[in-house]
Amino acid sequence: DEVDVENLIEYVLSKFKMEIENKQLKIIKNIDVKTFYSDPTLMEFLLSNLISNAIKYNKENGSIEISTKFEDDYLILSVKDTGIGIPEGETENIFKRFYRISDIKRQYPGSGLGLSIVKRIVDNLNGEIIVKSEKNKYTLFIIKLPIK
Ligand code: ATP
Ligand code: MG
Repeated sequence: DEVDVENLIEYVLSKFKMEIENKQLKIIKNIDVKTFYSDPTLMEFLLSNLISNAIKYNKENGSIEISTKFEDDYLILSVKDTGIGIPEGETENIFKRFYRISDIKRQYPGSGLGLSIVKRIVDNLNGEIIVKSEKNKYTLFIIKLPIK
């Protein structure tokens, strides 16, 4: 289906309206791609999980930058937050089922499943997920999906 990416981002943000307001987060959008041919349910799942994490692991008055663009033959979706970050040695572990970073898991609720499913979906779509982070500064997730 033709997915209206811009609309979908708005919809996902509206689901988390309360959480965003409670933390006084600033949302920055760089939406260069309006529509993309994909499965809307899967796309919603990917965005919901990345945005949910970007809210949960963010700081008060932090920001979330959501970007979409086409690059070569890929749709690039990225979500960057100004939160607690992910320690260098953990960036591979976070995609494992039920894995949660142990020194912070008591502070934040969650099951540790979100990213493992995200990774599976991205793999199934022949895409790629990349994470870049610096502890206590930022976390950036980039999803690359091939254009069919
Ligand atoms: P849920 O299943 O409800 O999403 P969760 O958020 O704990 O639970 P994942 O989304 O799979 O699970 O994330 C796994 C772990 O990776 C998290 O517990 C957290 O430690 C770390 N993590 C994920 N996203 C971020 C982020 N944006 N900033 C910092 N740490 C993160
Ligand atoms: Mg999560």
